Amino acid sequence: MTATLKVIVAGSGVLGASCALVLARAGARVVLTDPARLGDNASGVAAGMLAPVFEAALDPLAAPHFDLLLAARELWPGFAHSAGVELDRTGALAVGSAERLDRLEATLADLGAPAERLSRTDAEARAPGIRIGEAGGLFTGEDWRIDPDQALGALIDAARAEGVEVRRAPLQSSEACDWRLLATGADPAPGGLAPELARLEPIKGHILRAPGVAYRGAVVRGEGVYLSPGGAGVVIGASMERGAHDRAVDPAQVERLSQAGEALFPALAGTAFAAGVGVRAASADGLPLVGFSRTAGVLMAAGARRNGWLLAPLVAQVVTALVFGSEPGPWAQRFAPQRFEPGGGAY
Ligand SMILES: Cc1cc2nc3c(=O)[nH]c(=O)nc-3n(C[C@H](O)[C@H](O)[C@H](O)COP(=O)(O)OP(=O)(O)OC[C@H]3O[C@@H](n4cnc5c(N)ncnc54)[C@H](O)[C@@H]3O)c2cc1C
Repeated sequence: MTATLKVIVAGSGVLGASCALVLARAGARVVLTDPARLGDNASGVAAGMLAPVFEAALDPLAAPHFDLLLAARELWPGFAHSAGVELDRTGALAVGSAERLDRLEATLADLGAPAERLSRTDAEARAPGIRIGEAGGLFTGEDWRIDPDQALGALIDAARAEGVEVRRAPLQSSEACDWRLLATGADPAPGGLAPELARLEPIKGHILRAPGVAYRGAVVRGEGVYLSPGGAGVVIGASMERGAHDRAVDPAQVERLSQAGEALFPALAGTAFAAGVGVRAASADGLPLVGFSRTAGVLMAAGARRNGWLLAPLVAQVVTALVFGSEPGPWAQRFAPQRFEPGGGAY
């Protein structure tokens, strides 16, 4: 490896920050540039679940990629430890009707994903204060979480400590470098670089936070809603509004989520929620576009849909291997940016 490669990373969400950190550790000279305030993006709004099991069970686009999602999650303990990110491994609990739990249990058995059916009493012990029905719950210890505020701050601090220069500015396409990495989320590719990113679809998402309302337990996956602990209070998410790229708060979405949250966690009754909105970027198969653009000197890492936090260490590993010309590993092919084009996608 050489210490002389210069990489400019555009976008300091979780993908850009993780790539900047891992590239710098590998010996690159890295500039991380973003005009927005840290966390003023999908990464800062997210719930922070690292959830290969229930994402594969609940999201049809995630199911075929359970192996990859699990591999990404496996990287988290080392990644979190080395960057000062606090990892919560309490696990996750699905609740609802017996029919729903039966269905989820069967799906997870087909995937070979570990989960345990719990009685109502045992489920209540995993999720104190959550309203659990007669059917009990379905628990996995394999889904974890981070707090996005803490984690993003820690990643940027760790990147700075590795020598990354962090700038609050948009990408300057005139600045000399060996590689530009576009980690610009759902925003258009700056300067028309990386035309591949035009394939990404925006998916707006509302999420609620209940400042001051504490919950210490497993992440709860209800029907059309989840509830998670959070540094700034309980987190309730999230809507999936395909095609919408604006960040305006829609009172109807807030109302739906607050009612669903209160039904799950009665302690939320009467809470004044803080609504957040973020825009995910998504490809047709739910995985991000990670790798070389047809534009010379440009790579991309964008389009992680609803699993950007989960995927970040794996994305950073693949990007770093590509920049340094080493073998990008078994998952890189599934991320190939040209995979939707006829004959595209091979490294
Ligand atoms: C409501 C909600 C809940 C979610 N929950 C989870 C979850 O629990 N677990 C999970 O894994 N994922 C979750 N996600 C998905 C996750 O947030 C995204 O996949 C992830 O944040 C994408 O990160 P990113 O770095 O690609 O993009 P972003 O976080 O959007 O960052 C992109 C950055 O690029 C910057 N940028 C744009 N243009 C330029 C330019 N020209 N120059 C420089 N910088 C530029 C922007 O300012 C922005 O800061 C959730 C998303 C939402 C909306």
